[in-house]
Amino acid sequence: MPRLQKILVVGGGTAGWLTACYLAKTLNASDARSVQVELVESPSIGALGVGEGTFPSIRGTLAAIGLDERRFFVGAAATFKQGVHFVDWVRPASEAGHHHYFHPFNHPSQRAGSPELLPYWLLGAAPAGMPFAQAVSMQQRIVEAGRAPKRMADGNYLGPMNYAYHFDAACFASVLAEHGQSLGVKRLLATVEHTELDEQGGIARVLTRELGALSADLYVDCTGLRGALIGGALQSPLRSLRDVLFCDRAVAVQVPDATPDAPIRPYTMASAQESGWIWDIGLQRRRGTGYVYSSQHTDAGRAEEVIRAYLGPAAEKLEARHIKFDPGYRPEPWRRNCVAVGLAGGVVEPLESTGIALVELGAYLISHLLPGDRNDMARTAKLYNQMMSARYERILDFIKMHYCITQRRDSKFWIDNVDPASIPNTLRDRLALWRHRPPHRLDFVTDLEMFMPASWQYVLYGMEFKTDLEPMRSAYPQGEAARREFATIQQVAGRAAGDLPDHRALVEQLCLEHAQEGRMEVAAPARMGG
Ligand code: FAD
Repeated sequence: MPRLQKILVVGGGTAGWLTACYLAKTLNASDARSVQVELVESPSIGALGVGEGTFPSIRGTLAAIGLDERRFFVGAAATFKQGVHFVDWVRPASEAGHHHYFHPFNHPSQRAGSPELLPYWLLGAAPAGMPFAQAVSMQQRIVEAGRAPKRMADGNYLGPMNYAYHFDAACFASVLAEHGQSLGVKRLLATVEHTELDEQGGIARVLTRELGALSADLYVDCTGLRGALIGGALQSPLRSLRDVLFCDRAVAVQVPDATPDAPIRPYTMASAQESGWIWDIGLQRRRGTGYVYSSQHTDAGRAEEVIRAYLGPAAEKLEARHIKFDPGYRPEPWRRNCVAVGLAGGVVEPLESTGIALVELGAYLISHLLPGDRNDMARTAKLYNQMMSARYERILDFIKMHYCITQRRDSKFWIDNVDPASIPNTLRDRLALWRHRPPHRLDFVTDLEMFMPASWQYVLYGMEFKTDLEPMRSAYPQGEAARREFATIQQVAGRAAGDLPDHRALVEQLCLEHAQEGRMEVAAPARMGG
């Protein structure tokens, strides 16, 4: 059997380095007898550099590649993210002031022996007017108090609250590059200009400007929106998602903090606008912001006005970066001996931060499905393609739900978003079911879903979706127990908010401790020798 000996990752953004690290760690690439992992990145083509919000799966991924959490905080200028705070997604501010709801990462509380709380919340057992997320999870109180999800003493990637991160995308790629090389990834600096195919239509070699020909048994295309190998040489087509998700442009502005001790929000803000929405995330020294919008409904000039108005005087003289993307994915991201990961495989707009989570999934699947025989890739490719396509379709429904259950009718963008023709049948069916019963675990094939039932519930009920459980009231006789549980959650939330540290304080302490550990490591040999 011709053994798989070498993998070449083409591209050095988040997708390239995360995949290379994952492959190198899983395949033990630092052992010369193992599969070798090389990464070639262009010194002249920049990375997109805007993927700065993540999903909690990132913790498992960073732990799996063996990166220390403190090292990551320092290297990637990271902060904590505990969910997404949505503003004005249900109604425009002009109707009755700002509408808010929170999608926390914590699952709804469910203690052994106590009832599932959602039906009781729907039947009015929670304190009057209390939003679903606040009633069933303590995380909303924690973030409103500006608290971190963990304490200094909690271990690497562990904490009492579920969490992800915000980080500087360019710094993240650099820290991964350093870590990847320590795992045995060979880094090459060169731009791939041509791809030569073999007789079977697979890739024989890539030709670079600086280093000539490079060849491998498997090529991982991480060249970003270009999809230079998978879309260029192999011509794997894109399935457009434009008929469902209209946003296809962004204008991004980086806003330096006014003072070094400015509080950092421990969540992403997503504020709905006339033709899209604005992300606003807090890093260690700046905010990353951007207006994601539909070019069918507005233009770049107006979009820049909208984000500048949102930011106010803080944005004066700051550069605005305009980005185009084409929402869609490749149903066949793995073709012959080439697999695309990251933007080369597909782009879904950044609401709910699915981009990097899809990179994590791609890296995980390739590492674990990889065949040892380099001539036997077709079956693995088929399985990989089925799983990735299913994941994209589930994500598509989840993102679209944020738009299509709105009550907003104040602009053509929102009116078009509720047009039934733009809503996938799978989502329409589910929404119809959920008018009479809440989402249940059995509605989801969990291995194919990125978003668990709790996330669907937080968004549905945060957006005032109505599920009529009245006809089934008698099936829920544990109202008293549920009421006690709702009260307990509020008490525990108050205590937890007191126990957890301030967000910025913890981030700074983690970075400081890492720096001190580094100094001790450097100092130790000198003392021993002296
Ligand atoms: P890139 O970052 O573009 O990197 C491409 C790499 O390929 C670069 O290193 C480049 O030098 C190299 N390259 C290109 N061509 C060649 C060549 N010919 N030869 C050699 N090297 C080459 N995702 C999230 O999870 N959270 C978010 O908040 C988020 N926000 C986003 C906002 C916007 C507006 C967009 C469009 C996407 C967002 N995403 C987000 C998606 C996220 O940015 C990407 O999933 C992630 O950054 C991965 O990008 P990438 O590595 O595939 O591509």
